[in-house]
Amino acid sequence: MADVAKDTPEPGRTLIRNIGRLLTGDLDAPLADSDCLMIEDGVILGFEEGDADRVIDAAGCALAPGLIDGHCHPVFGDWTPRQNQVGWIEMNVNGAVTSFISAGEVHLPGRPKDAEGVKALAMVAQRCFSNFRSAGAKVIAGAPVPELDFDRDFYVGIKEAGIRHIGEIGLGTVAKGPDAARVTGWCRELGIETIMHTGGPSIAGSHHVTAADVIEAQPDVVSHINGGPTSIPHEEIRELCRHANGALEAVHNGNEKSALVALEGAMAEGRLADFLIGTDAPAGSGVQPNGMLRMATLLASFGGLPAEQAWCCGTGNVAKRRGLEQGIVAAGRPADLVFMDRPMGSDGDDVLGGMAVGNIPGIAAVMIDGKMRTGRSRSTPPSARVPVL
Ligand SMILES: [Zn+2]
Repeated sequence: MADVAKDTPEPGRTLIRNIGRLLTGDLDAPLADSDCLMIEDGVILGFEEGDADRVIDAAGCALAPGLIDGHCHPVFGDWTPRQNQVGWIEMNVNGAVTSFISAGEVHLPGRPKDAEGVKALAMVAQRCFSNFRSAGAKVIAGAPVPELDFDRDFYVGIKEAGIRHIGEIGLGTVAKGPDAARVTGWCRELGIETIMHTGGPSIAGSHHVTAADVIEAQPDVVSHINGGPTSIPHEEIRELCRHANGALEAVHNGNEKSALVALEGAMAEGRLADFLIGTDAPAGSGVQPNGMLRMATLLASFGGLPAEQAWCCGTGNVAKRRGLEQGIVAAGRPADLVFMDRPMGSDGDDVLGGMAVGNIPGIAAVMIDGKMRTGRSRSTPPSARVPVL
C-alpha cells in the first residue's frame, strides 16, 4: 500500500480526450464546455489539446474532481480500530475519494487527553499521514481535540507545530457555548481552523451540542449539522443555516432527513456554496467506501439538486471553505480526477442522469496527481463505459 515512489506525480504530459461530461467542482460553473484536459507533472494544464507523452481515451465517461471527505476519523496507517478494518482508505479511493480531512484521531485506543499528549498525537498523526498515502490518498490529519484545561499557550504551541485545524469541539470536555467560544476565539486570532460537533453525543463520553452552543462559538465548520449520528431538531438546523457563519456540513453517518432539511435551509439562505458533505467514517454505522458517492447522490435525487452541483458539495465547496488546492478542475490545480459513468443498468443518459434517479455513479478509474491509482472500482457497480490508456 504505502509506496513512496507511487506518490510522486506522474511526470510529463498526459492528454485526456473524448470526455463525455466535464465536471469542474466549482459551483460558479460546475460544467466545463470541453471534451479534453491536459495534465503536466501531475498538475492540470488546461482544456486545450496538445502534444502529450500519453493519451487517455475517456470513451465518453464523465471526468470530475476526486471527492474530498471533509469529515473522517483516521488513526494510523490504513487501519481503523473503530470497526477493526484494514484497507478502508484504499477502498474509499475506489469510491472516488482522493482527499480526506481528519476531524480528530479520536479512535486511537487509549488516546491521551493531557495537553502534551494531545499535541504529540496530533503532530505524529499529521507527520505520519504526510508520509503515508494509501492508494495515493491525501489524508490531512493531526486534529487535536480541545479539553477544558488547555490554555491559550496550547493553541500557540500547536500552531507553531504546523497544525492547521483542531478536532471537533465537543468530543472532549470543551463542548458548551462559553467554553467553545473561548477556544474558537483563540484559534481565530492564531489562524487555526475550528470545527464543532453538532447534535447528540456520538458515543458515551462525548457531548450534546445544540444550535445555541454552535452560534455562540461560531466555528469555521458546523460539523455534521445533520447529526453524528443524532440530529438536533429541524428548527435548530434552520436556525444554524440562518445564523451560523461557518460552513454547513452534512455527513453520511448522520440523519438523512436532517441532511435534506439542512440543504433546504442552506438554499433558502442562498448558501449552497457553504454546504459541504463528508462521511464521519469510520463510525458506528461502519466504514462505507461509497459514503461520499451516496451523499452526493442523496442531494441529487431526494434533494433535487442538479448532480453537477451536488458534486461541488464534496469537492470545490470543501476546497474553498477549507483552503485546499484540490477539488476543482482548473489550470494549476492537482490532477486528482475521477472517471465515471452511469452504472450498468441504470436509467439516465449519463452519470448525472443516473444520480438524479438515485443511482450512485460507477467509478471507472481514479487518478491522483496525474497518476492512475485504480482501474474499474472495487467498491461501486461497474460503469457503463471505461477509459482506455
Ligand atoms: Zn462529531
